[in-house]
Amino acid sequence: MKGEIGEVLISERRIKKRVKELAEEISRDYRGKSPLLVGVLRGAIVFLADLMRELTVPVEIDFMAISSYGQATKSSGVVRILKDLDEDIRSRHVLVVEDIVDTGLTLSYLLKSLEARHPASLQVCAFLNKKGKQRIPLEIKYLGFEIPDRFVVGYGLDFAQKYRYFPCIYALKPGIYREA
Ligand code: 5GP
Repeated sequence: MKGEIGEVLISERRIKKRVKELAEEISRDYRGKSPLLVGVLRGAIVFLADLMRELTVPVEIDFMAISSYGQATKSSGVVRILKDLDEDIRSRHVLVVEDIVDTGLTLSYLLKSLEARHPASLQVCAFLNKKGKQRIPLEIKYLGFEIPDRFVVGYGLDFAQKYRYFPCIYALKPGIYREA
């Protein structure tokens, strides 16, 4: 294991169990509907792929890419759409699937942009939320786990594009971040 990887914060077993629970809740809430899952690239792909296979409602998927930290680990507050949706979301039930909410800046920007397109409904499913870090109040209807304020990798999340393939969530060792 690389010297920058710290301890396991969330094991594979806990992830599997929680994803199943979230999928049950979402399937119940969207019964009779065909929601569009909007995955936020690239971090959310592992979560979205696992979640959609546990759902019992007929979902469709689409993706957006927005600028994030680059190689740094601090939110810049500057958010840019790098890849927009391919689907028209007017009158669709949209569920944004996000990897992690930190300050909430990224998600709040994204939600504003999606809201302006008049979906029938718009909700958020986030895999992780950093406790006490939100600078913008956001409603995360479906949340996987609250985590402490550590920089985490694995299960889709990277550090300078590395470690996305890890099956569980690790904290990076403190002191190795390159801050913006
Ligand atoms: P926010 O705008 O909420 O501050 O930041 C959200 C984005 O920052 C996430 O979508 C993710 O790309 C990145 N991010 C925030 N915290 C972490 C973290 O602990 N690990 C990783 N890999 N990315 C993070």
